[in-house]
Amino acid sequence: AVMNGKCINIVANLWNSPEKDTWKTGALAIGSSEACMLGGVAAWLRWRKKRQAQGKPFDKPNFVISTGFQVVWEKFAQLWQIEMREVPLTLEKTTLDPEEALKMCDENTICIVPIQGVTWTGLNDDVEALDKALDAYNAKTGYDIPIHVDAASGGFILPFLYPEKKWDFRLKWVLSISVSGHKFGLVYPGLGWVCWKGKEYLPEEMSFSVNYLGANITQVGLNFSRPAAQILGQYYQFIRLGFQGYKEVQYNSLQIAKYIHSEIAKMVPFVNYSNDVVNPLFIWYLKPEYAKNAKWTLYDLQDKLSQHGWMVPAYTLPSKLEDYVVMRIVVRQGFSRDMADMLLGDINNAITELEKLEYPTPTRMAQEKNLPVEAKMFNHGGCRKTVKNKKNL
Ligand SMILES: *Cc1c(COP(=O)(O)O)cnc(C)c1O
Repeated sequence: AVMNGKCINIVANLWNSPEKDTWKTGALAIGSSEACMLGGVAAWLRWRKKRQAQGKPFDKPNFVISTGFQVVWEKFAQLWQIEMREVPLTLEKTTLDPEEALKMCDENTICIVPIQGVTWTGLNDDVEALDKALDAYNAKTGYDIPIHVDAASGGFILPFLYPEKKWDFRLKWVLSISVSGHKFGLVYPGLGWVCWKGKEYLPEEMSFSVNYLGANITQVGLNFSRPAAQILGQYYQFIRLGFQGYKEVQYNSLQIAKYIHSEIAKMVPFVNYSNDVVNPLFIWYLKPEYAKNAKWTLYDLQDKLSQHGWMVPAYTLPSKLEDYVVMRIVVRQGFSRDMADMLLGDINNAITELEKLEYPTPTRMAQEKNLPVEAKMFNHGGCRKTVKNKKNL
């Protein structure tokens, strides 16, 4: 319990918590999913209490997020019956547009959720710009819509690599932040953290006490029993690596991701989705002019790479961009520069083989014929993956 409390303190401090108490306000979770749920529920309960006090209806809560959301937010919306309002991502606007987000807000908005390290693209929503726009909006409307930052990946990257960048508790409306310990927190699954800017933002109703374990245990969370190993793992990593150690690990991962990104850019079939690599993950796709005449798709490349043991997923981007089939690489601690060269070699070899094809592959034909088809794509578990009928872009 003490190590857990210390981990929360360390995470809160990394995010520039203004809290002065010995123990800062936060909770342990099984991953970002649980951590996001807790942040979302707290925002919902705060909003509800305020509405009740004003004698206003509180039966139609909503929250605002970009279409780049991770599936947890769909779960949050469904399980708690809170309407999810989605700001579309487009090729021109690749991250959450603050003005568009504000257009979707009203008196029933419990929070806006920018993402640091968008799962689909690796990019960061501009929380500082959102905070500024929201401040003006809240002043004008009299609402006080807060921000929960889903920093599943970015929460353990930004404090080390971009300490000057304001995305955290330094911003006025950021009241809670969540992160995965098992992504760039460098711990095995499942571990997540959520922190609030102060005690007053964590509704009391979310703390539950039990006494049947021989002591009064107060807990905030969806799960009850859980392994403690990850907490020890996190605490160990924190004190073993220290700030400088984490910084070096993340810097190294970012450099390797940037290296692969620049090599991908040199390969004839490919174009990177973004010129920036802000987190150690990025995506790319087939150049439209190349794809037109190609006999293969990125699904075929995924298949070829998996034969060499690489898990490089091909997938379609979220709605409005769903015609784009992209491929993603995530670089973490342990993925060395040597491995990067091996992977790049395998990608090059796969392209050479695919270019020799005489006839189009099933996934390519499916795109060409505009027919829905289930292609045999083998992933980890040998499961079939449905390849929807998408244009070969
Ligand atoms: C991975 C991820 C989640 C879910 O995290 P888990 O730790 O897998 O539960 C939520 N949000 C974002 C942005 C993510 O990338």
